[in-house]
Amino acid sequence: MYILKVLVEYANQSLDTTFDYLSNQYVETGCRVEISFRHRSIVGYVEMCSETSLTQDELEKSQGFKYQYIKSVIDQKPLLNKELLQLADYLAKLTLSPKIAVLQAMLPIQLKPNSTQGSGIRYEKYAVFKQDKLVKTVKQQEALAYMKEHKKVKVKDSPYSKAILDKLVEQTVIEYIQEEVKRDPFQDDIEMSQALKLSDDQQKVLFHISQKLGTYFTCLIHGVTGSGKTEVYLQLASQVIERQQSVLMMVPEIALTPMMVTAFKQRFGKKVAIIHSKLSSGERYDEYRRIEEGQVMVVVGARSAVFAPLKNIGLIIMDEEHDASYKQESTPRYLTSQVARKRALYHHCPLVLGSATPSLETYSRALKGVYDLCELPHRINQNPLPEVELIDMAQEIRKHNYSLFSSKMKTAIQSCLEKGEQVVLLLNKRGYASYMRCLDCGEVVKCPHCDVTLTYHKATQRLTCHYCDYSMPVSHTCPHCHSKQVKMVGYGTEKIEEQISQLFPLARVLRYDVDTTRKKNGHHRLLKEFEENKANVLVGTQMIAKGLDFPNVTFVGVLNADISLNIPDFRANERTYQLLEQVSGRSGRGSKQGTVMIQTYNPEHFVLQCVKEHDYQKFYQKEMKIRKLSHYPPFAHLVTLTIEGKDENEVKQSSQRIKTYLEKELTETVLGPAPCMIYRMSDEYRMRLMIKTTKSQMLYPVLSRVNDFYNKNKRKVRVICDFNPYTML
Ligand code: ADP
Ligand code: ZN
Ligand code: ZN
Repeated sequence: MYILKVLVEYANQSLDTTFDYLSNQYVETGCRVEISFRHRSIVGYVEMCSETSLTQDELEKSQGFKYQYIKSVIDQKPLLNKELLQLADYLAKLTLSPKIAVLQAMLPIQLKPNSTQGSGIRYEKYAVFKQDKLVKTVKQQEALAYMKEHKKVKVKDSPYSKAILDKLVEQTVIEYIQEEVKRDPFQDDIEMSQALKLSDDQQKVLFHISQKLGTYFTCLIHGVTGSGKTEVYLQLASQVIERQQSVLMMVPEIALTPMMVTAFKQRFGKKVAIIHSKLSSGERYDEYRRIEEGQVMVVVGARSAVFAPLKNIGLIIMDEEHDASYKQESTPRYLTSQVARKRALYHHCPLVLGSATPSLETYSRALKGVYDLCELPHRINQNPLPEVELIDMAQEIRKHNYSLFSSKMKTAIQSCLEKGEQVVLLLNKRGYASYMRCLDCGEVVKCPHCDVTLTYHKATQRLTCHYCDYSMPVSHTCPHCHSKQVKMVGYGTEKIEEQISQLFPLARVLRYDVDTTRKKNGHHRLLKEFEENKANVLVGTQMIAKGLDFPNVTFVGVLNADISLNIPDFRANERTYQLLEQVSGRSGRGSKQGTVMIQTYNPEHFVLQCVKEHDYQKFYQKEMKIRKLSHYPPFAHLVTLTIEGKDENEVKQSSQRIKTYLEKELTETVLGPAPCMIYRMSDEYRMRLMIKTTKSQMLYPVLSRVNDFYNKNKRKVRVICDFNPYTML
């Protein structure tokens, strides 16, 4: 008889322990089992299995509680291999998360420990030839001849009807079989591509990394926009595949995936699998299986792909390494680079980080020599970087131009369209108007569950909360004083789209944001239309800043650079620099010179000046001085504790108590408690404590005690520890 230690499915910290069950057979760590738990039949996850010579009776007497047998074993072999199981343990400790939550983040939905096996498998029915003999009708004889020739035919593709095939099955001359089908999410026929002849700069980078394949190190490729990083990745990947090893290619998010996926599919064909959140759960499951079965040499995917069950990894690449989407903002709150590094270490392979605008943390490590630094300082074919002009919107107001477009930008867009070239416009705000305000009482319409205003979306005629997704139909009376004097204030991408159509008769506009790309393949479809010149203006949020490579785009306009500059977050400067440099990089990537115009009320701001000069180094030096003065990363680690709960008083009192405790236990000063930027979200109140430290390892024992105290037992508040906070909302 065996005793199993089983983790149960609730990603609730109070259940972050194992429960003992009995089994007659040995079950490997990492397999799922069906158990009865609190009178419900659920799926658990085997953490350990040990043999016992005691009988159930003896066992119950010695332990003082009743044992149950598991109901069944679901997996014959573990879902996660040894490497990934170790990784799960590591991540649970690193992020103070329940192990079960980590496992759930690592596995595609059908394989999560809370669902039974097989739900994602799709079968295709085939007719298979068995024997030749006389059958009843001429038509059936014809069908049999066809089957004899083709041996195996998909039933749905067969030129003979299902009824005829059924008759043949009855006469035992053919039979039906079911085969598992793996859905191909990119069914378009792909044209294969050949390796390009590398530029000298690209060649140098390739050589530097390829001579060290088979060893663990981290390398930053700092290459300006359009310097040809993708081709370097592709050729590195080729070399790794030749060594019979696999490649993990990470991209920030779905917005970027279509072009990178296409590039990899065109080079490596069926050897590529993609993982991203827009795949249907069936597709995800299929890709997971293909990878696990070793049919795949390259995985391209967003954050969760870092857990792809690839074996024998020879290279891990993280493109746009600075991107905030690499941080998971729910439990387990991990950084993709932490996981990637751990895996690179395990497989003794290089971790390559690529960016035109590296994060300050990464660049400072590269300068210190912790990472290798490879530079691609020029665009391919020595194309110049686009010229950037800063436009002072205060001047426009003095000239009584109150429109969203400065007169200069209007002229520039007009002339770009006249030349048959394309325009990209950035406005980092979705929706139509920003919010609704009552002119009588001055109130704005807010979300009933969060401390934020609701955003007007014209297409749906609704006011929507961008934090909890609450929405309500637009009302024409004020919810506070019932006045009819309500007015839309501000503007978003939806409104810009409308204005462009009015201002520029030549414009054929496409809007690219969360709302228009929500549908499956939405990104793909929109980008394809733009690529085929069916549209000549692409308006979007920060989603358009990344990775798009359209040679006919010669004008990029930023409508309001101040939105992102004014966000109260210590990374606001860095984010703004990255956003503007990246979006500028979309202009003039082909043979034609590109232009960029940035509208702002702060034209003298150093971030904007550095973007104008495309001077990353200068930006880096200035921003590092600011970070040093205020002890922010990379000069210190930041750890935040967010205290959340429905009872406002409890939240306040608990945060004070936690602060007192931390100050007693730690040498660091604890900042706060302060209300979070959005104090109330989804009906919960939120306070925050912050610790700046140079020795974050030392905090673990203390923070994990706080974490356990509040989260392992049912309390009125929850505490969320974040060791790499990326948003300060
Ligand atoms: P980045 O990712 O660095 O911004 P890309 O990888 O998108 O740049 O490359 C920019 C453009 O240059 C692409 O259209 C790409 O096909 C082209 N390109 C890259 N390398 C070469 C090369 N060696 N020869 C010719 N064209 C190249
Ligand atoms: Zn009112
Ligand atoms: Zn809300």
